[in-house]
Amino acid sequence: MKTVIIGGVAAGMSAATRLRRLDETAEIVVFERGPYVSYANCGLPYYVGGAIRDRSALLLQTPESLAARFRLDVRTEHEVIGIDADARRVRVVDRREGRTFEESYDDLVLAVGAVARDAVPAGIPTRTLRTVDDVDALEALIDAVDGSAAALVVGGGFIGLEAVENLVRRGVAVTLVQRGPSILAPFDPEMAAPLEAELRRNGVDVRTSVAVAAIEAGSVRLDDGAVLAPDFIVDAAGVVPDVALARAAGVRLGASGGVAVDARGRTSVPHILAAGDGVEKTDALSHEAALVTMAGLANRHGRAVADLLAGEAEENAPALGTAIVKVFDLVAAKVGWSERQLRVAGRPHRIIHTHPASHAGYYPGAEQMSIKLLVDPDDDAILGAQIVGGEGVDKRIDVIAVAMTGGITASGLSRLELAYAPQFGSAKDPVNQLGYVAENLRAGVTRAVQWHELDDVLADGAMLVDVRTPAEHASGGIPGSVNIPVDELRERLGEVPDDRLVVVHCQVGQRGHVAARILSQHGRIVVNLDGGYRTWAAGRAARVGVLAAT
Ligand code: FAD
Repeated sequence: MKTVIIGGVAAGMSAATRLRRLDETAEIVVFERGPYVSYANCGLPYYVGGAIRDRSALLLQTPESLAARFRLDVRTEHEVIGIDADARRVRVVDRREGRTFEESYDDLVLAVGAVARDAVPAGIPTRTLRTVDDVDALEALIDAVDGSAAALVVGGGFIGLEAVENLVRRGVAVTLVQRGPSILAPFDPEMAAPLEAELRRNGVDVRTSVAVAAIEAGSVRLDDGAVLAPDFIVDAAGVVPDVALARAAGVRLGASGGVAVDARGRTSVPHILAAGDGVEKTDALSHEAALVTMAGLANRHGRAVADLLAGEAEENAPALGTAIVKVFDLVAAKVGWSERQLRVAGRPHRIIHTHPASHAGYYPGAEQMSIKLLVDPDDDAILGAQIVGGEGVDKRIDVIAVAMTGGITASGLSRLELAYAPQFGSAKDPVNQLGYVAENLRAGVTRAVQWHELDDVLADGAMLVDVRTPAEHASGGIPGSVNIPVDELRERLGEVPDDRLVVVHCQVGQRGHVAARILSQHGRIVVNLDGGYRTWAAGRAARVGVLAAT
């Protein structure tokens, strides 16, 4: 049997190599329009920034190495320009030889990925950051300006932020424009705010709620009227599925714009399968089709397509959208849905913010992280999580992703037995702590108010009590709060009314919880400000509400 695979990077090469491992007799041809196959596109920004010094480290395989180990017929600089699904043939342009030919197939795998949304008008040298050719071109643009280059990065998503950091590391002065009100749209604004601050701390000119309006005479005009004069532009405004070939072949596209496939990667056309960024995934929460453009899914689904071709297919699991990015000294990771998504979908949710230390506070080097957990109030299912911090963010998001995959509830996080020594975590790991908070909220042991609800609650007559120390209160408090330190609360109960709601807050929510327990057991109606002053301040810094458009 002959399988032709279009696209030779993540999904395509996973399909090709897996198929060979399963079927030594298969004929496997891979067409890749670019000059490289199986390269490390996720590493590209770090080559620009210098963390990856050796360009050849990006090039994981060559057609020769793939032929030697896997007996694959990999043809680079070969672009498939048409599919005749009835005749089971593809039309291919060999760019090196300048000729066009046809190749037959028994089965065809579309693994063509995504293409830039192309939001930036031409006029100033502009590159995406998607291919080895792109980084070579960016290198040349940086070098051309002799040490004082200025760049405009359009788009504050994952790749935009990686571009920003790595350009700064190369000494480039960077302006970042983001159409939405906060960077990293999959994160809620109070979680994205520290990242924006981190960019500014590193000298990046961050401009949100603004877009490129026009490029005129070597300058860029933004739609707020500002004019910039960058030496070059990095277009990181997002991608769309590359579906031109599929559409022309009569393959059904889904409502999201990607190729529609079943749970095993079959398209609507017999003998055509598809995987990767060009393909719709099934969202784990909504069970509806969605676009999730991540390397892990592309590799896994490419592999699954090979399983199907070899006759050993299991259904692909729905996508959680687990992702992580580093922005200078901060790490941001997410899984599942954000509060913003849940609100837009009208889906009930409970919110938990915590700010634990990455490992035991008494052991040197602990770093504080901010965690947001979103929980279904009906069945306690975990709907999503976001974590921002330094050390240990990666393992906590992965534990939560595993919990979601395994159907472990939010309260169930408290029962996970996680590895602990002081260098690595705490006897009550941050993930366990989330479980404890979830249990308390679920059982009604504590009640919480969110940072964006506070103004309304206070306007309705609630009293706000800051239970931190006087020094903490003096160094920054929420307007209108009365300071009664938690350790004095029992002696000063008379200052706390029992005829109206009392909101308590501390720095991160923990002392607030203790205070709420004391007060409620003394007959007060009390709620704790979730995530404390820290979350409230981050929300204020974000200057946007959770419902703001992305
Ligand atoms: P691709 O890997 O893009 O491969 C598609 C290939 O098909 C391309 O090489 C293209 O040239 C080829 N092709 C297209 N049309 C044709 C045609 N007609 N004929 C022949 N060949 C064709 N994901 C993460 O999870 N974590 C990360 O840290 C991360 N970082 C990233 C950083 C960058 C700079 C980029 C660009 C992406 C990053 N991603 C990351 C996303 C990840 O790389 C993609 O999700 C993944 O590569 C998608 O795999 P794919 O096979 O669908 O598409």
